[in-house]
Amino acid sequence: MDSSKNAVFDAVVIGGGIAGLQSALDLAGQGYKTAVVEKDASIGGKMIRLSKVFPTLDCASCITTPKMAAAAHHDNITLYTCCDVQRVEKNAAGVSVSMIQRPRYVDIDKCIGCRKCEYNCPVLVPDAEQGGFSGRKAIRIPFSNAIPQKALLDVEHCMLCGKCADVCPTKAIRYDQKPEPLAIQAKTAILATGYELSSVTGKPQYGNGDIPNVIDSLQMERLLAPHGPYGRVLRPSDGMIPDSIAYVQCAGSRDASMGVPYCSRFCCMYAVKQAMLLSGSLPLADITIYYMDIRAFGKNYEQFYQNAKAMGIEFVKAKVASLDAGQGGAVTVRYEDQTGEGATSRDHDLVVLSMGVLPGFAPGGVCPVGLGPDGFIQSVLPKMSPAVTDMDGVFVAGVAAGPKDIVDTITEAGAAAMEAAKYLTALSGKAPGAANKESAHE
Ligand SMILES: Cc1cc2nc3c(=O)[nH]c(=O)nc-3n(C[C@H](O)[C@H](O)[C@H](O)COP(=O)(O)OP(=O)(O)OC[C@H]3O[C@@H](n4cnc5c(N)ncnc54)[C@H](O)[C@@H]3O)c2cc1C
Ligand code: SF4
Ligand code: SF4
Repeated sequence: MDSSKNAVFDAVVIGGGIAGLQSALDLAGQGYKTAVVEKDASIGGKMIRLSKVFPTLDCASCITTPKMAAAAHHDNITLYTCCDVQRVEKNAAGVSVSMIQRPRYVDIDKCIGCRKCEYNCPVLVPDAEQGGFSGRKAIRIPFSNAIPQKALLDVEHCMLCGKCADVCPTKAIRYDQKPEPLAIQAKTAILATGYELSSVTGKPQYGNGDIPNVIDSLQMERLLAPHGPYGRVLRPSDGMIPDSIAYVQCAGSRDASMGVPYCSRFCCMYAVKQAMLLSGSLPLADITIYYMDIRAFGKNYEQFYQNAKAMGIEFVKAKVASLDAGQGGAVTVRYEDQTGEGATSRDHDLVVLSMGVLPGFAPGGVCPVGLGPDGFIQSVLPKMSPAVTDMDGVFVAGVAAGPKDIVDTITEAGAAAMEAAKYLTALSGKAPGAANKESAHE
């Protein structure tokens, strides 16, 4: 699992979410030496931050953690975390990736993940991993099932009191650690850089993020997660158990004013999932989903949606015009009812916005891969070989190519690994580029 400064691999996978991990495991399983480059301090991507997953309602962590551990312990996989990719380019030997590894201010080889530094650090700041609802220390293991289980010091908030260094049993704290340039040479690459949610701050109609008790869907995933900030669903502003929770669908998607004219594809289903989980944990709560149309296109998804309706979740076909802060922490939802009621409003204790899905990586100036009009990496053979990009020997997997759920992400990650393996096989007997050209003729 250890990383070295200048290393040579068969394949490099950029992005250590579920797509990148699946691709890396598939390649490593075929004997290919594979590097996984991740910008965060832990692999696992968005999936490790989810509560349960539709349509099976399996625990997300129970599925993701074994994949993360398998990648971390695989003899053919080398993980690089905290890495900012500077350049991905083609050369005579294949693909080179240059990057800067940000300092953890902790010697990763010495850290044993005991958390003594975390327990003794006096600085508490909001924990983005928990949706900002609880605190974390300036030095900490990023989250309970992070891989690697190595401490990370947040230099912006550290006051250099020295307490962490005093208690560290392995003398792993390195206040003087510097960013380190690293270079990887590989024969082929897979881009699996996933997505980010659009921010509510760009939407004045929905309060620009200033209305208390208006949260986004990833924050709700944390409230629902077993290791969430409160251990149960509470209203963030005052700790009240919410009696009425609303979802606003397409809050940042299918909306040219937000720069996201496309459908984000998985929001309908995760809203239905979260509503079902909420009705399990808060059986007395009223749960309403304001939607334009429900897109339940995957296998068993329609049944999942029908089950939610049968559980008493209310679906209101409406375009939500605006949100306002109401009395006592309530949120007033003003909407145009599409079934006849016209312009009307309702108060809810908590409102969840299904924000838009944006590309996780802007390759401009870093990697000359072609993008589609939506900014996601363009597949040049979308029907026959969706993992093939316009860069010879560089493939794409998961949401990096466009919004998709976990089932499609895993399928595509396997396809990208297959394309990369085919490319490597072709390279061993033919000139570079043969594999992509073969795919184009299939
Ligand atoms: C609230 C919510 C709930 C959801 N619930 C479900 C569900 O129940 N079922 C379901 O099927 N789907 C669900 N999804 C969708 C699911 O999250 C995605 O399908 C899945 O996470 C996609 O995986 P990925 O690996 O492609 O992307 P990500 O999970 O985004 O992983 C990408 C990784 O790449 C890294 N990265 C990005 N840029 C770089 C870079 N330049 N260099 C290095 N690393 C980089 C990121 O840090 C990240 O670790 C949900 C989504 C949301 C928002
Ligand atoms: S106290 Fe030292 S060994 Fe323990 S988690 Fe912190 S840095 Fe790592
Ligand atoms: S030196 Fe910084 S990280 Fe370490 S205990 Fe003090 S404030 Fe926390």
